[in-house]
Amino acid sequence: MAIADKVQGFIERASWIRKMFEEGATLREKYGAENVFDFTLGNPAVEPPEAFRVQLLELAQRPLSGMHRYMNNAGHEQTRAAVADILTEKSGLPVAARHVIMTCGAGGALNVILKTILNPGEEVIILTPYFVEYKFYIDNHGGVPVEVWTDRETFQPDIEAISAAIGPKTRALILNSPNNPTGVVYPRETLAALGRMLEQKEKELGRQIYVISDEPYARLSYDGKEVPSIFACIRNAVIATSHSKDLALPGERIGYLAANPQMREVEQFMEGAIFCNRVLGFVNAPALMQLLVAGLQRASVDVAEYQKKRDLLYNHLSALGFQMVKPDGGFYLFPKSPLADDVEFVKQAQKHNLLLVPGSGFGAPGFFRIAYCVDLAMIEASLPAWDKLAAETLS
Ligand code: PLP
Repeated sequence: MAIADKVQGFIERASWIRKMFEEGATLREKYGAENVFDFTLGNPAVEPPEAFRVQLLELAQRPLSGMHRYMNNAGHEQTRAAVADILTEKSGLPVAARHVIMTCGAGGALNVILKTILNPGEEVIILTPYFVEYKFYIDNHGGVPVEVWTDRETFQPDIEAISAAIGPKTRALILNSPNNPTGVVYPRETLAALGRMLEQKEKELGRQIYVISDEPYARLSYDGKEVPSIFACIRNAVIATSHSKDLALPGERIGYLAANPQMREVEQFMEGAIFCNRVLGFVNAPALMQLLVAGLQRASVDVAEYQKKRDLLYNHLSALGFQMVKPDGGFYLFPKSPLADDVEFVKQAQKHNLLLVPGSGFGAPGFFRIAYCVDLAMIEASLPAWDKLAAETLS
């Protein structure tokens, strides 16, 4: 075999999104793009905010000397300072530029953090349903994922279950709020309770346990729902995030990691993470994007547009009898599959040119995911197909 057995195995295990993507291409060819309703990918259909284009044009017309060169592996000082300002404002803690590293997206940040903290065989707890890449990222750095289910009705963290899964090899817990795939937001009390439980466990086990807060959807919340500061609730917390969703720049690979200034041995952690950003081959986050996002820390895509899409789909599907948690953020819905076999259900949906991802792809059989970061017109056009699917599968 031309590739490592492990990689081949991973490719086979993670083939859902790719399968659906290929299926979409076939259906589009056969029926025309306007008749295929593809809800599979978290790739925002909206454009970045106008302020992004204005600044891009400005830099293109009046380039700064040396703006395309290498810089400190942690990133441009002014960008890190702009990120630190907003985190200070949100957490009430003195986050400084030295606590921030610009990264190649949230994926880059997660890999840098995991490489920095994991010894071989150490465990990282992930909450089911989970973002599918976590297991691969953990494996990249010799770690072992440990799955813990969230509450199966609310998808909120089950603190007792997490506590029970913590042992002498536990090194980290990954949280993702607003969540992909469920859209739920973890409230402040839950995070604070988690923080207290972890402090206790750290004392018992005599080791540091990190919370890695993966939060690329943090600016996308609805009905004024608060997305609390993880730093305000958990001491050993590191944020991994990006502007892939809030500024609709996923292809530009710009994000950051930031450590709670109160974390134990934070300076050593940052030194390790800067080194890992370098030796993972990222070297530094894209220079031009760093310059652009420095001035956009308070900007975001139009959240009201996403809320409109959520409301339309949630209301329509609920009226049809689909059961799901109403998402407070992100751009996903995660309803129960009306058929016991979620893969079968997704195949049935395909017959109506509706492309969905089975919950099995997120470690959660019996559910399916809808990504509604698509054009509103597509959602509207898809409603009759949902009606037919409901008539066939819900009784
Ligand atoms: N984490 C979650 C929960 C995501 O949904 C995504 C992307 O969809 C990422 C991380 C990766 O984001 P990025 O494109 O910034 O690497």
